[in-house]
Amino acid sequence: MRTSKHYSNVGTTKRVDHEAGRHRPKRAAAEPAECLSCGALYVGRRWVLPETAHESPKHQEWRPQRTVTCPACKQIKDGLPSGFVHLKGRFLADHRGEIERLVLAEAGRAAVDNPLGRIMELKEAGEELVVSTTTEHLAKRLGQALEKAFAGHVRYDFSHENKLARVYWERD
Ligand SMILES: [Zn+2]
Repeated sequence: MRTSKHYSNVGTTKRVDHEAGRHRPKRAAAEPAECLSCGALYVGRRWVLPETAHESPKHQEWRPQRTVTCPACKQIKDGLPSGFVHLKGRFLADHRGEIERLVLAEAGRAAVDNPLGRIMELKEAGEELVVSTTTEHLAKRLGQALEKAFAGHVRYDFSHENKLARVYWERD
């Protein structure tokens, strides 16, 4: 206590920073945290893929300070999607495998930017294939990728109240 008073009474920026650094661990949780389910790491106040984290020379030696369940794994466990992509049309029936591969590959690329964006499920619903996602952003991104790869028609419907994105892609 006496030490921190001493520092706070000294007006140099350097010492103030030093004091903040010394006290931070008491307020913020220890980093990096590792998700027990998927291995994502929380560091620098954001979630990253373990591969991404370990690519940085600064972070190669990281060892998780604590284990947690990341928000995406929790959402998957609770079954609460934030986005849906509805796919339909004759083209879907004829190119199902190709389309599914594109969707999964795009989700993999998106995970590099934000590992909390995940596909929860690919499910048949009548004539539709419905992809549920943990984030609105991923649903939107999948819609864009489908349109770019296969043309067709895409429509976005965002409910900001429910924080739910519905994307409809169709090609006959
Ligand atoms: Zn996780």
